[in-house]
Amino acid sequence: MAIIIDGNKIAQDIRTEVKNAVLHLQEKNGTTPGLAVILVGDDPASKIYLRHKENACRDAGFISREFRLPHDSHETDILSLIQELNRDGDIHGILLQLPLPKHLNPARIIETIDPRKDVDGFHPYNIGRLFTGNPYHTACTPKGILELLDRHAIPVERKEAVIVGRSNIVGKPLALLLLNRHATITVCHTRTERLAEVTKRAEILVAAAGKPEIIKAAMVREGAVVIDVGVNRLEGGRLVGDVAFPEVAKKASYITPVPGGVGPMTIAMLLVNTLNAAFTLISK
Ligand code: NAP
Repeated sequence: MAIIIDGNKIAQDIRTEVKNAVLHLQEKNGTTPGLAVILVGDDPASKIYLRHKENACRDAGFISREFRLPHDSHETDILSLIQELNRDGDIHGILLQLPLPKHLNPARIIETIDPRKDVDGFHPYNIGRLFTGNPYHTACTPKGILELLDRHAIPVERKEAVIVGRSNIVGKPLALLLLNRHATITVCHTRTERLAEVTKRAEILVAAAGKPEIIKAAMVREGAVVIDVGVNRLEGGRLVGDVAFPEVAKKASYITPVPGGVGPMTIAMLLVNTLNAAFTLISK
């Protein structure tokens, strides 16, 4: 039976570490990390995510400022808000809640964020830094996954890692993070042939497809480390991951549950990135 990786516990440990670092920063420099969150429109799921992020910021002792813009906002309004926040010395991180309403171009808006304040790690500058093996701000979910592995002392170097999913926010940045740590990487997607054969090779298997329980025990190598990023709400309301947990847990060496695995790490890493941004900006 696999060891269950407790993301809630690890995320809580990190949040306590961040809180202590904030106290230290306030004592030494009189600076409090500040995060600005921007929500355009009123997508209910985005509102819930944002509330969790803001609560986490306040618990950590950060300043959290929220900017809610109407659904029909013009791109120029959002760009001028971001430019103002780029100049604001009390704000160290800027988070633009995605997805944006359809009429807006997310790439152009993200590129306006000062890369030093891009705590989501989505700006092409930060993606380029990750690509060249010298990361600065890295996307929170992939960074959280690496932290889960590290805090369990699970080795990555020389391991065969398979990631199911190639999104810009999870699959691709995670592939680069693992590659930078000398794993051998395969990234799968909807046009991958013989998916089960590929996933069965994995010593580290990451499921980030957003498809309920598609990873069955027969697709998993004996003793694999299985990380489940998926969050899927079934009819009736039950939350499941991309991994068929009960059967895969019998075969894996380590496994993350849903909920309580990768999810809490994303917010913890947002706090870490914002704290790092504050350190960088005050040392300039
Ligand atoms: P996404 O943008 O929809 O990407 C899904 C990826 O999975 C795509 O690359 C897609 O391939 C691939 N895929 C889908 N079905 C597949 C299948 N049957 N076989 C192989 N590949 C398949 O999703 P995302 O934003 O990366 O998120 C993935 C999941 O993680 C979602 O459930 C999301 O809610 C969750 N998530 C959780 C957190 C967290 O904090 N826990 C954070 C982010 C995301 P194509 O490219 O060919 O379409």
